[in-house]
Amino acid sequence: MPRPVDAVIEAAAAFLGERITVNAALRDHHSHGQDTQPPVLPDAVAFIETSEEAARLLALCHQHNVPVVPFGAGTSLEGHVTPVRGGISLDLSRMNRILEVSAPDMDCRIEAGVTREQLNAHLRDQGLFFPVDPGTAACTIGGMCATRASGTNAVRYGTIRENVTGLTVALPDGRLIRTGGRTRKSATGYDLTHLFIGSEGTLGVITEIQMRLHGIPEAASAAACQFATLKDAVETVIAILQCGIPVARMELLDEVQMGACIAYSKLTGLDPVPSLFFEFHGTPASVAEQAKQAEEIAEGFGARGFQWATDEADRKKLWQARHDAYWAALALKPGHKGIATDAIVPISKLDEAILGCKEDIAASGLSAPIVGHVGDGNFHTVILVPPEPDGLARAWDLDRKIVARALALGGSCSGEHGVGIGKREFLEQEHGAETLAVMRSLKTAIDPRGIMNPGKMFLN
Ligand SMILES: Cc1cc2nc3c(=O)[nH]c(=O)nc-3n(C[C@H](O)[C@H](O)[C@H](O)COP(=O)(O)OP(=O)(O)OC[C@H]3O[C@@H](n4cnc5c(N)ncnc54)[C@H](O)[C@@H]3O)c2cc1C
Repeated sequence: MPRPVDAVIEAAAAFLGERITVNAALRDHHSHGQDTQPPVLPDAVAFIETSEEAARLLALCHQHNVPVVPFGAGTSLEGHVTPVRGGISLDLSRMNRILEVSAPDMDCRIEAGVTREQLNAHLRDQGLFFPVDPGTAACTIGGMCATRASGTNAVRYGTIRENVTGLTVALPDGRLIRTGGRTRKSATGYDLTHLFIGSEGTLGVITEIQMRLHGIPEAASAAACQFATLKDAVETVIAILQCGIPVARMELLDEVQMGACIAYSKLTGLDPVPSLFFEFHGTPASVAEQAKQAEEIAEGFGARGFQWATDEADRKKLWQARHDAYWAALALKPGHKGIATDAIVPISKLDEAILGCKEDIAASGLSAPIVGHVGDGNFHTVILVPPEPDGLARAWDLDRKIVARALALGGSCSGEHGVGIGKREFLEQEHGAETLAVMRSLKTAIDPRGIMNPGKMFLN
């Protein structure tokens, strides 16, 4: 008796040819993301090249009740792309065309497999840029939409949510729809665009994205400054935000993460102590003024070592070190895996959340550097999982404590990484049973057969 998935593979080969494959290495590559969830092989991998192909493949999967897991670059951190019930891993990396850029309107339309670096290289000559910059350059903008991603610039330019105005989506039954549009605002109908932003491949496949762009700032200045205590660094963040200084980036690194970054990225002139990295954007005069205000506030909390870098190469080096923080943390203990926590709290609770997290780490006996987009109230720890039988259980225990504190402080278990498998257990506590039931109803209405990325977001 042929399996339903074999019927899909055979029928899809008629229009995908060799782009639907059961090649062992490719199935293995699509069996996991950048996480500690156990890998599961998909039955096949399909490389689609158009929205219509995505829709046709979904119609087949819907007809045969076969699971589909959209796959961008597989950089997500919560088991999002693991095909826990097998089926088809639908790879969007070949949908990587930049379809349209309008400099006068400062917007663009791209396919979902375009990466942020690819888009920014394309835009540079037009004086425009796309600001959302997760710590890995490989991720696709479709994946960023699906996980509601953000980065170091979110405090100034918003997350992916604020920058997307419309989508093309292939629905589980094979319909292809367009949501939203190009205008900065619209007051018509339900906001389906933002229903799909953060839906983690559980509602459909995003194939095209309409987005806002931003002008490359006339002037930019970056600096690192260092503190005697983590408390001083966190209180500086809160004071700068409460004063309304329009900082473009403000990242916190505790002494462990700072030590890791110095070693990994060969940073000079900095010590392994709690540190803040800043960046300001604007006109030369406004940047100078913002930098001066921030420096005065930080100095009030004992900051030292401000060295402002206006040169692009120097700024790049500092931010590359920040983007490499995850790999720097892993390099601290070779042979350990990493679990990246992602708590976020209201700004006024940031000190309680981070200092409490530091106590939890000490009590756990594990190594867990802290780094984060503190300008949004979001911070990560990279919990280094010891290669021992109880290592993973101890790491998850620490993650749960950090999440519990964030929720008690009115925060969220994930500021940007999403739910996937790893954060499902917190969703009811965070949103409440009735709200979760409404989310489930939406899922059932759009994906009645439950073929889209099953086993994610909801516990069962
Ligand atoms: C070192 C490192 C640093 C990171 N730093 C950050 C950070 O600063 N900020 C941040 O937000 N994240 C960060 N991440 C996490 C990750 O990069 C993001 O979650 C990213 O958005 C995932 O993109 P991707 O293309 O790899 O998606 P994938 O991992 O391939 O997929 C992620 C989820 O989206 C779904 N999906 C993918 N593409 C589509 C599509 N076109 N349509 C529908 N569903 C789709 C998948 O099914 C899956 O559920 C980091 C990861 C690493 C490894």
